[in-house]
Amino acid sequence: MLGSISNRQATWFVHKFRRADLLRSADEETLMLGSISNRQLFQPRSLTDALSMLRDEGPLVPMAGCTDLYVALNFGTLDDTRFLNLWPLDSLRRIEMRGDVLSIGALATYTDMRRSPLVQKILPMLVAAAREIGGVQVQNRGTLGGNVANGSPAGDTLPVLAAADVVVVLRSAADMRRVPFSEYYTGYRRSVLGPGELIVAFEFRKLHGRQWFRKVGTRAAQAISKVVMAAVAGDPPRIAVGSVAPTVVRLPSTEAALGRGASIDEARQILLEEIAPIDDARSTAEYRQRVAANLLARFWNDSFITKSRRTRNL
Ligand SMILES: Cc1cc2nc3c(=O)[nH]c(=O)nc-3n(C[C@H](O)[C@H](O)[C@H](O)COP(=O)(O)OP(=O)(O)OC[C@H]3O[C@@H](n4cnc5c(N)ncnc54)[C@H](O)[C@@H]3O)c2cc1C
Repeated sequence: MLGSISNRQATWFVHKFRRADLLRSADEETLMLGSISNRQLFQPRSLTDALSMLRDEGPLVPMAGCTDLYVALNFGTLDDTRFLNLWPLDSLRRIEMRGDVLSIGALATYTDMRRSPLVQKILPMLVAAAREIGGVQVQNRGTLGGNVANGSPAGDTLPVLAAADVVVVLRSAADMRRVPFSEYYTGYRRSVLGPGELIVAFEFRKLHGRQWFRKVGTRAAQAISKVVMAAVAGDPPRIAVGSVAPTVVRLPSTEAALGRGASIDEARQILLEEIAPIDDARSTAEYRQRVAANLLARFWNDSFITKSRRTRNL
């Protein structure tokens, strides 16, 4: 069936990025650092088309906003040569209510989410996270699906999705399945996403309790998080943290302790037993532990003050 896809398969000839000319005796078949000239791009016209291409022409690497993929290309660490362009698939960009469930398409960008009245109303912590991701350019291109599929434990939306108990909707040519977020990651940057599958949407049920998000990095928005926390002051509270373990983590023991009325000092101690940060280029394990514990206290304090103010106003 190669003939039938030939008009939908584009080979990139972006001369600006061709480095082969600069290399004196290079083998032309070899991929050069940052070169995209000998990579293939498949251009589906619909989701069905995309899923068929994944099945029939795979393995293909899905491309959404390319804000992560392009960094890898630029660093010369992108070994893949065959890509599937999801960007034109507008059906994956929808943000809508389906009954009492808020559905956010995988291609929704940070700008889409910031501007959506539905997301503002139902998931203000996701709006808060979107506001602090990169600059305007990255917010216009970066997608929720890409953040999740990229799977960095520092991904800023991941604690929000964990605290909200989102359901990840996966589609292949043959099947659709709904995976609870708590079961999506299987290890550091590993997930249950199969080679013939795409993330197509995220489904959120309404949350009860004030939502809270805080990111700590070297500077606002433009830096990768050293610690990032999302929480809901419900009964019991829901708390999720990023950058403190190989994957984003919920803190069930800390949540239970706060839910039964433990002091914040006790809860902070319990949190320290639930996270396993490491030293890396961005921070130390010790710093991350202290910041995570401080964020917990800040979340609880903010929620408590708001609650008691509300009570006084009644
Ligand atoms: C300057 C800069 C600043 C940034 N700042 C932040 C930040 O503050 N916080 C943060 O969390 N991130 C940040 N990022 C990272 C990046 O913007 C996000 O991870 C973004 O959400 C990725 O989405 P994308 O659509 O660009 O993904 P892409 O780069 O297109 O893809 C990323 C990965 O996801 C896969 N993929 C994409 N969509 C799907 C899908 N629907 N189904 C299956 N697989 C898919 C791709 O195959 C690829 O492996 C930054 C990046 C840059 C360049």
